[in-house]
Amino acid sequence: MKRGVKEEILNLLSENREWHPTAKILFEELTRKFPGLAFSSVYRAIDNLLKESKIRAFKLEDEEERRFEIMERSHPHFKCKVCGKIYNIDVDLNTAFKEIAELHTHHIILEAHVTYYGICSNCFNKKVQALVRKMS
Ligand SMILES: [Zn+2]
Ligand SMILES: [Zn+2]
Repeated sequence: MKRGVKEEILNLLSENREWHPTAKILFEELTRKFPGLAFSSVYRAIDNLLKESKIRAFKLEDEEERRFEIMERSHPHFKCKVCGKIYNIDVDLNTAFKEIAELHTHHIILEAHVTYYGICSNCFNKKVQALVRKMS
């Protein structure tokens, strides 16, 4: 494995916490810094980082490929149906709902994956601005 690929993935993911790239997107970004980099190297680096619990993988219902993010408190995601961006929602999932669910089922919940879908504030504002421009 090329030296630095793992570190670069960690850097990119911690500097862009709402990026949530797929392996392909990560590969494209990494080839700028490491020309001639093989996709298999990126794949291996991702695999190692997952095993070391430094990054987390998640898959959305409406997508085929896994996305990656830095390992931090598990949080819900919000995917914009207009621009496709996946935002973090920084609330703790291990609160009220988890406790109620455990109390009712006697299961032990270890993790939760929640994704909301809608129109992000950026896209919404653009639509409103376009409407205002039309009216004036
Ligand atoms: Zn949007
Ligand atoms: Zn996230």
